[in-house]
Amino acid sequence: MFLYFDPRYIFFVMLPALILSTIAQLFVRSAFSKWGNIRNSSNLTGVDVAEHLMRTQGLGGVGLEAAPENAGDHYDPRTHTVRLTRDVAAKPSVLSMAVVAHELGHAQQHAEHSPLIQMRNFLLPAVQFSPLLSYGLIVAGLIFQIPGLAWAGVLFFGLVVLFMILTLPVEIDASRRGLRLLDASGLIRTDEERQGARQVLTAAALTYFAAAATALLQLLYYIMLVAGSNRD
Ligand SMILES: [Zn+2]
Repeated sequence: MFLYFDPRYIFFVMLPALILSTIAQLFVRSAFSKWGNIRNSSNLTGVDVAEHLMRTQGLGGVGLEAAPENAGDHYDPRTHTVRLTRDVAAKPSVLSMAVVAHELGHAQQHAEHSPLIQMRNFLLPAVQFSPLLSYGLIVAGLIFQIPGLAWAGVLFFGLVVLFMILTLPVEIDASRRGLRLLDASGLIRTDEERQGARQVLTAAALTYFAAAATALLQLLYYIMLVAGSNRD
């Protein structure tokens, strides 16, 4: 807890994190509100697009469900299922088309056993407990002056950062696959539509960049803190 009163933490981690996530959110909001209200040329809803791509692009066996209330659109690798939010599922927009294609890009990665995905999934269990565990270890290590404990915490947080960095190529690849699926199935018909789909997916990727950059800054801060305390 005392870390959050450290002005260095506020200036070098919290402030940049706030700026980065705000910029990413602005891009997301503007791209999503624009392309969420522009009809795609095929006049297909997200569900229609998903069914069309599954049928024509060799993606049989992928499930399709409604996303739970508080969850966004996502692909669940455990059940090989794409879950869509209500707007994306029901509206025939360029946004719906792009989001569905991206999620099916993840399904395709999974079906092809993409090595990046496997590495990322391998880290997933560790990552779920790491932020809290690493924070606890670092604080305990600093208070009781046991450098090994604090460094173990830094190491655990390093796993989180690694996971978030691995997420970036996975997300970019899913978007690339999604655009390819749309092209191959003939769903993208105009340049405007292609540009719109690309804008939506780029904006979504920015949020992952912002999160990874923030985690990296936090890791650097932890390293600085623990290294500094060892010198005393
Ligand atoms: Zn994704």
